[in-house]
Amino acid sequence: MQKEGTLILVVGLPGSGKGTLISYAKKHFPSIVFPISWTTRPKRPGEREGEVYHFVAEEEFSRAVSAGEFLEWVSIDGGHRYGTLRREILLPLSEGKTLLREVEVAGAKKLRALLPEVDIVYIFIDGGPWEDLSKRMLERAPMSEEELEERHKRYERELSFKSEAKYVIENVYGKLGEVEQEFSDIISRIERES
Ligand code: 5GP
Repeated sequence: MQKEGTLILVVGLPGSGKGTLISYAKKHFPSIVFPISWTTRPKRPGEREGEVYHFVAEEEFSRAVSAGEFLEWVSIDGGHRYGTLRREILLPLSEGKTLLREVEVAGAKKLRALLPEVDIVYIFIDGGPWEDLSKRMLERAPMSEEELEERHKRYERELSFKSEAKYVIENVYGKLGEVEQEFSDIISRIERES
């Protein structure tokens, strides 16, 4: 029987730079599968449909929830929903592939509980103190006081996951080249060991 694949889950604080690192990995690891998740949040400037997310309406998301199409889904940041699709994860895993996906901490824990047989490796991206992160987030996209406050709470929750991750990357601002190299070294190592 073919060996099950490996699921690399990238967890990190909002605004920690996960997205940039994952885009970098996409260019450098053609053999890795990057599953698309669904979200009901609006598209941000520069984002393209089908790259990281499939952007859907509330009704479409609800339909997929009822149909059992998600492995896990959450509602965060003022009611925006995000979900990983069964088919996007289970099929490539059964084919022995390595997958890499970013999820928030509740999803990361749920996937571990749901897939006890699967080799799941966590990489935590630490983007530094809340003051710096919130500044960067607001530069990226404006948000209401409430949304910012909710993200602050999530910051605390995500930080509590840091000790559970096998790999931690300190995303030092202004050292992107080095951080990308570190991320890439970790992925190569996971691929070698899986
Ligand atoms: P953003 O709106 O900044 O793209 O994502 C918000 C948070 O949702 C991030 O922490 C991101 O990792 C997480 N996220 C993205 N896709 C999924 C998913 O499919 N499931 C879960 N649980 N979280 C996700």
